[in-house]
Amino acid sequence: MTAVIPGPLLHEGKAKRVHATDHPDLLAVDFKDDATAFNAEKRASLAGKGLMNCRISALVFEYLKDRGVPTHYLGVQNDHWMVVRSVRIIPIEVVVRNIAAGSLCRQMPIAPATPLEPPLLDLYYKDDGLGDPLLTEARLERLNLLGPGQRQQLEALAMQVNRELRALFGSVDLELVDFKIELGFTSDNRLVVADEISPDTCRLWDRRVGDVNDRILDKDRFRQDLGGVVEAYGEVLKRVEGVCPEPQVYR
Ligand code: 5GP
Repeated sequence: MTAVIPGPLLHEGKAKRVHATDHPDLLAVDFKDDATAFNAEKRASLAGKGLMNCRISALVFEYLKDRGVPTHYLGVQNDHWMVVRSVRIIPIEVVVRNIAAGSLCRQMPIAPATPLEPPLLDLYYKDDGLGDPLLTEARLERLNLLGPGQRQQLEALAMQVNRELRALFGSVDLELVDFKIELGFTSDNRLVVADEISPDTCRLWDRRVGDVNDRILDKDRFRQDLGGVVEAYGEVLKRVEGVCPEPQVYR
């Protein structure tokens, strides 16, 4: 077998480019150095971010695979290319929150850093033009985004991911505050975790650091102009490298 050959660009998102390959069921994902926040109102290019997010995501997907969590990930190709199964992405962002932060504290009378037990699961409609609005049960039904039983399936998988990620990050003194995942269906209708899992999509606080700004090791460093974004991602990478299986090169 040979490595996949990236073909035409199918989709360019804020942080990744998705390419077709010479295999109809496989896609090649190129992780970019671009950083965006506040619905792309704030932009920058951060040298090394793409490489680190690709590697962190690959390590996390390997860890999840070992624990029986289905994902679209198949392996890496080189520094910033990931090979994934082609899936039908559900246009829903699933956010699981263990500690209150971000939009939850802006929209609700909940103080930042309040522990949320049980974790809070929010669904958002994935549409940048609409600002990814929060979905209610009724809106979800109206948009007909999921078939019968699929909401429970999606939520159960997101909660399983939360348990596994909390254990993973917790083992290297990283507090998983919250995260966003996207899910999709494979050609044989299996629900899998897609997209990426990285400091772009997770809030991670360093348990070894007391200061409320210095402990931030995720995209909030960029959102809040705290500096040291790439260094923070590098720290996350260093820690997860110690506890995740080495990413397979897809051949
Ligand atoms: P919040 O709702 O507080 O803005 O975000 C909650 C969590 O989901 C954070 O970890 C945040 O990084 C992630 N998240 C929510 N929406 C997006 C998005 O559109 N893109 C990315 N990369 N992460 C998101």
